[in-house]
Formats: sequence, structure tokens, C-alpha cells
Amino acid sequence: MEGRIVEPTAAYDYGRLVRDIELLEDSFQDLQTETIGTSVMGKMLPSLAIGSGPRHVHVNAAFHANEWITSLALMTVLEELLHAARQQAAFAGADARGLLMANTLRAVPMVNPDGVDLVLHGASAGHPFRNELLIWNGGTTDFSGWKANIRGVDLNDQFPAYWEEERDRRVIACPGPRDYTGEAPLTEPEAQAMAAYTRHYDFDVVAALHTQGQEIYWNYRGYEPEESEPFAERLAAASGYTAVKLTGSDAGYKDWFIQQFRRPGFTIELGFGVNPLPVTQLPRLIADTRSILLELLR
Ligand SMILES: [Zn+2]
Repeated sequence: MEGRIVEPTAAYDYGRLVRDIELLEDSFQDLQTETIGTSVMGKMLPSLAIGSGPRHVHVNAAFHANEWITSLALMTVLEELLHAARQQAAFAGADARGLLMANTLRAVPMVNPDGVDLVLHGASAGHPFRNELLIWNGGTTDFSGWKANIRGVDLNDQFPAYWEEERDRRVIACPGPRDYTGEAPLTEPEAQAMAAYTRHYDFDVVAALHTQGQEIYWNYRGYEPEESEPFAERLAAASGYTAVKLTGSDAGYKDWFIQQFRRPGFTIELGFGVNPLPVTQLPRLIADTRSILLELLR
């Protein structure tokens, strides 16, 4: 694509995200941005809004630190959508302007920036959480398996949807790389910001991008509306993924959204392999994200 700002190359840290958003703001008048909160370490959490339609769609990425490639896939596709709308061109075969007249898309491309930077850059001598992180990580400086935020809390186990059951199921009693729910729901600023933002915009549909598995989770304890299953089947058909009915999981963002609002919410597990997925998968992840985003906007 001519004049591309978001470069689909490794590694996509918070600094690159912020730089790309600034450049996109300079290039595209149609793009609105805002800060929805701050991370534990004080990083501003950006949201990008495109379109002016009555249907409010939300997509987020990188709830989990070592799934940062989802941020890059989403940002790449958002830029494609902006280009297509400006040039009155097609986005994945559909009329971009029409999609953005019907929908307002709001994206939070990196929910967990402190964690992403930890996975990509480690905990150097000056890192304010270095000592705790090394203990929580079992003494190793390899943080490639880190999913949590910088306080060792799994942000996708933080939401008030049968949180106590998730805590008891996880049996992780202290901070660590993954699966620690925290001491209570919404103790972490990143999760608080996502909950407040979601309540404020009252989204019609939400999707959280994760890796990996090529699966789409669409239900939650029967709270989902009837349209969720056929919607998930459409997303699956568009991406070649499998729509999966899940049990035995609580306290996730999409769980909370479904229970709170009784509207369609999805967890999308992009790609296939071992996290963090290799950058060689990026073209496929971008194509899948494009197909899924189009279907969310239809
Ligand atoms: Zn994940």
C-alpha cells in the first residue's frame, strides 16, 4: 500500500504504537483519538475512532502481553480502512465509506502496553518492577511467556463475571506470568479503563483479539443473545476459523460484556502455533483480521 505508516514488521512495542497513531492523526482527518486511561506504569491507553454510523462496534488487541502481534495486525487493518475510506475504495471487497456511514468503529489496539514492552524489551536494570518481575517470573529474564500486566495480574481474568469462580479455578495465589486473577475484580487500571470505556460507549458488539487457535468464542453461560451464534458462524466462515461454544471460563472481558449488556461479544483467537506467534505469520494474521473486521461491520 502506498504511503504506509504502520509497517508490518517486528516488534510492535508501545513506542511504535504511539508514533503510528500520531502519524495516522496527521494523515487522516477522519480519525478521532482519545485516551481511555493509563497503565500501571503511566502509559496512556489510546482509542481510535473511525466512522460516524449509529452502530457502535469495538475491537481491542493485546489484553495479553505476549500476544502483541494482535496490536500490529489490528493497526495495519485500521490503516487500510482509513485509506480505503479516503479514496472511496473497497475495503476487503466492500464499500469502505458505506461501512463507516453505518458504523462507528472504536479500537483499543494495545490494552496492556506495560506487559507488551516487558515481553519485547525485558526488565532492564532501571525497570521499576525489576525485582518483583524476576521473582514472579521464577528467576528468569526470559519474559516471552508473560501474559499478565506489569503487576502480574491477568487482565482477561479481571472482570466481574463470576470472578470468584475463575479465581478458585485458577488456584494461582500470587502475581505471575499468567492466570492470576488479582485480589478482586477490576483492581488493575487497564481493566478499569476498559470497563468504563465500554460502559460509556454502550457498544452494540465487541471483539477482543488474542492468539492463538483460529477459534472464535461467542457464548457466556447462556447470557448471550440469540444472534451471537449465527454471528459467530459468519465470522468463522469469513476467516476460516471455528466457532466454539465454551464452558468453564469466567471473568474475561467478553464474558463480562455479554453478561452486562446481553449483546454479542467475541474472543477471537488469531493464528495457530505457540505464543508469541512468529512474525512470519503476520500476513495471514492481517488477512484474517481484515476478514473478521469486515464481518463485524456488516
Ligand atoms: Zn490471550
